[in-house]
Amino acid sequence: MKVLLVGSEVSPIIKLGGLGDVMGSLPKELVKLKIDVDVIVPYFPVADISRVKIIKQIELQVPYGGATHTVDVFKTKLPGSSVDVFLLRNTKYFNLGGLNAFLNTVSETDMFVFFNRAVTEFIKAKFNTYDIIHANDWHTGLLNHLLETEIGSTRPATLFTIHNLAYQGIGGLELVKDLGFYPGEHPIIDNDVLDGTLNMMQQGLSSSDYINTVSPSYAKEILYKDIGGEMTDILLAREGRLVGILNGLDYSQFPRDFNTSNWKEHKSISKKSIQKQLLLDNSDKPIFSFISRLDPNQKGLDILLDVIPRLITKGAQVIILGKGDPHWENTFQSLLDNDKLKGNISINIKFDTSLALDIYKASDFFIIPSRYEPCGLTQMISMWYGTIPIAHAVGGLKDSIVDNKNGFTFNIYSSTSLFSVISNALELYKNKPVYEEMVLSAMQTDFSWTKSAEKYYELYKEVINLRQKSIHLAEVNLDYSNK
Ligand code: ADP
Repeated sequence: MKVLLVGSEVSPIIKLGGLGDVMGSLPKELVKLKIDVDVIVPYFPVADISRVKIIKQIELQVPYGGATHTVDVFKTKLPGSSVDVFLLRNTKYFNLGGLNAFLNTVSETDMFVFFNRAVTEFIKAKFNTYDIIHANDWHTGLLNHLLETEIGSTRPATLFTIHNLAYQGIGGLELVKDLGFYPGEHPIIDNDVLDGTLNMMQQGLSSSDYINTVSPSYAKEILYKDIGGEMTDILLAREGRLVGILNGLDYSQFPRDFNTSNWKEHKSISKKSIQKQLLLDNSDKPIFSFISRLDPNQKGLDILLDVIPRLITKGAQVIILGKGDPHWENTFQSLLDNDKLKGNISINIKFDTSLALDIYKASDFFIIPSRYEPCGLTQMISMWYGTIPIAHAVGGLKDSIVDNKNGFTFNIYSSTSLFSVISNALELYKNKPVYEEMVLSAMQTDFSWTKSAEKYYELYKEVINLRQKSIHLAEVNLDYSNK
């Protein structure tokens, strides 16, 4: 089986967010299942090629916006694997990309429509030898249409993975013209642009052979308006071709110098060290931490803010590490003005992966109050470091945390529910044997990519099979109409 994984980033070469982690981890596991997998991404200037050998392979001539653009195709290997990574370079379109994972602007949409056009030319240059194109998020939403236009009925099967439905890639009508599509060619596009805009996520969802998302629970939740929003109707119509596969965690990215037998001593040393580093009082109080993009629509910032003073009054310390929405950066920062919290709160407004690791290792509890969470990595990382997650039971959080076993969950999105479960956690912390059992259970929960890759393999087989059947049916119909 030959697979092409398409997306906007691939870790560790280009890492902007969680999508990059999936694009970098999944292919390495697929190779172990004897799948021939290639990865293709734009060659943004932020690409870190210091640890890889890179060679220019071919040049593509890509028609777009009434002109022909040269795209240089560079080839390298995904570090630590035999996976080929193709990087597409074009100074006009890709030089401003890769600065922010969630820019989601109109000009970014233009960049990725061009990317879809270039990937299609790449697939043609590879003689259409892929069995399946695994497209990821809105950045790849037009691939299915382009393949149909360019290759017709012999196009490969397509799987479209939703990593976060809230980011959709919305652009102007002119993008359809730039692609060279004409009205009537793709009715799904005609229908979408009636409001004057093109929605890349909507196109990926409605045109691809199959859709999946990054946890089984999120796959169900997006069928309801409060999480699925305007995409709900399309998703409901395609429910029979929508599944969820929980992401794994690439443990090689998270070194741990302790194990289930010596975690107590190590955590206690890490705790003292982080208290010193972040100017917290030196005490045995439990540390509750929160590390996240500060996205008020997703990450549950309002209910978190509400519980912090009460949590500290009840005898805990709190560490926040986050960056994002400026209003929320200021709001968290201003907690430092409250004298009652002094010595027991640390606010760090920045993106700092090394500090994040220190916090995961030193904390006792990790709060994830997200309103919705497609999969989430922080619960998996915190469990690995023996830090008990306290999370809203949604999406991937619900699928990875077993309440009262390896963490705590709450069902109703409110600060009251969050605080109630935090109170349980504080009680548990006093009951050392039970608390220690939960830490061990969290540390032993296995989120390695192996299981997820096996599920993707099964899904690829099913999607390819469905594609073969639909080609066969189309031929039968053709024969019938010829009689
Ligand atoms: P999302 O992809 O929605 O941002 P995830 O939970 O899937 O959320 O992944 C978040 C990742 O980013 C985790 O590895 C987390 O540790 C990291 N992260 C988030 N905010 C920060 C920050 N301010 N500094 C360092 N790492 C962060």
